[in-house]
Amino acid sequence: MGQNFWVVGTDTNIGKTIITTYLMRYFQLQGKSVIPYKPVQTGIVVEDLQSYYEDTTFYQMFSESSLIETHLNSYSFKEAASPHYAAKLEGAGVEEEIILNHIQQLKMMYDSVICEGAGGLYVPLNEQPHYYFIDLIKQTQLPVILVASSKLGTINHTLLSIEALKNRDIPIAGIVFNMFEDTELEINNIETIKQRTNIPVIVMPKLHKLSDLKDVQIEGIDFLERMLAIQC
Ligand SMILES: [Mg+2]
Repeated sequence: MGQNFWVVGTDTNIGKTIITTYLMRYFQLQGKSVIPYKPVQTGIVVEDLQSYYEDTTFYQMFSESSLIETHLNSYSFKEAASPHYAAKLEGAGVEEEIILNHIQQLKMMYDSVICEGAGGLYVPLNEQPHYYFIDLIKQTQLPVILVASSKLGTINHTLLSIEALKNRDIPIAGIVFNMFEDTELEINNIETIKQRTNIPVIVMPKLHKLSDLKDVQIEGIDFLERMLAIQC
């Protein structure tokens, strides 16, 4: 039994990696052994004759201790696209059994396994016509933290994501509103979602530079930790 959960998003590019990395550091600083795990990453970055994948590189960059590379990821595909399509372009496929087994093994090795989704919840994982990322999450029986924007459009995206999770009885430990800039509209967005869902909310301010992640203080994060401890 540990603090094992998913970090999923209402959309792609919403800040799942930043939140995963923040929570990894939070648990590390409490003396826990933590592994972030990105089952499928897509979109290779090529720079100055070097190539890398952003998510797993980001974890390593901010980790308090060196992370074992083979634990961090199961599939990497070059094209920045949905897993099913990025895999197809390389004549490959994604098998959910490999991911489920990997998570089981990590759970035995670490105090906390933080799994990061790919895109939003209804991203196809492979060519099965009725199988989406959200179905993989359901199979793991782990709760989720939902990362959402605080900006215009978030009420619709967030409530749709919550409805999909609830329809599958996937426990939602909390919502993280990312890139908050303290405008009236954002405050109302967050309040509106809070009132209508009764799910604990955490607010991550917009970071001016990524290294600010090391010092940023988020209110209520300890509450989230207690929620997770109960649920998994
Ligand atoms: Mg990411």
